Amino acid sequence: MVKIINGKEISNSLIEKFKKNVDNLKSEYNICPALAVIIVGDNPASKVYVNNKKKVCEKIGIKSYEFTLPTNTTESELLKLIYGLNRREDINGILVQLPLPSHINEKKIIENINPIKDVDAFNEINIGKIMTGNFNFLPCTPAGIVYLLKESNIKIEGKHCVIIGRSNIVGKPLAMLMLHNDATVTICHSKTKNLKEICKTADILIAAIGKPAFISCDVIKPGAVVVDVGINRDINGHICGDVDFEKVKDIASFITPVPGGVGPMTIAMLMKNTITATLLQKNI
Ligand code: NAD
Repeated sequence: MVKIINGKEISNSLIEKFKKNVDNLKSEYNICPALAVIIVGDNPASKVYVNNKKKVCEKIGIKSYEFTLPTNTTESELLKLIYGLNRREDINGILVQLPLPSHINEKKIIENINPIKDVDAFNEINIGKIMTGNFNFLPCTPAGIVYLLKESNIKIEGKHCVIIGRSNIVGKPLAMLMLHNDATVTICHSKTKNLKEICKTADILIAAIGKPAFISCDVIKPGAVVVDVGINRDINGHICGDVDFEKVKDIASFITPVPGGVGPMTIAMLMKNTITATLLQKNI
């Protein structure tokens, strides 16, 4: 019988824990963690993500500042805002909601966030630290996935983990994290040959592709753990993942649903990183 990993529930219990941590910081040190979120343009999905982040900040007691800039904001205007936030002692975390309008160089923007405030952990310094295992922050989605696996008592050590997707924010850092947890890791992507055969050897299959129902039961080894990172819209406009949940659940041992699986964990890990950033900056 498949076990459905309830990311919403696991993330809620983390949020409760973080609220206590923040209450403690306030009462013991008179410190309130603060997160600055920058959004450029009017991408509707970005607005939803930013609102969700704001709501969770409020629940925990993290102060959130939203900077909403028009689509025609120049790269230098955005950089100026970031330099200012880097200097502000009352701001502990800086997050630039991606994607940015095409006239702005995303890489340049991310590289100019002070690494100790880079709560998304997209900055090259933070990405590099993940390679050695000597990190302060982990990118939120990969960290959330590993947390979900551990919280569900899924053994990672010695398992073959197949990750489909090689993005800098999910696939690549997740591969490193799974390696640090002693999995044997294969990363697949759009040019991979024999994808089906490789997937069938996975004890843990993680799909981060961005294609609705791309993974069906024909590529799953019976009893595999299946993690669905995808956030897509189906033909009826409903949110769905990369995995055909209804078919795959009959063959997997564990599966994450969409929505309510990996998504809520991403926000929880952002909160964790904001608290960590505060502790680091205040030398606590
Ligand atoms: P991306 O969009 O940058 O890249 C997609 C990846 O899929 C690429 O590495 C590509 O090589 C691979 N791919 C595409 N077609 C393929 C095919 N036919 N066979 C094998 N591989 C193929 O990736 P991303 O930014 O990591 O996003 C992936 C999905 O995860 C999206 O749906 C995104 O919305 C979602 N996402 C969810 C969360 C969350 O919190 N749940 C966070 C980040 C991304």
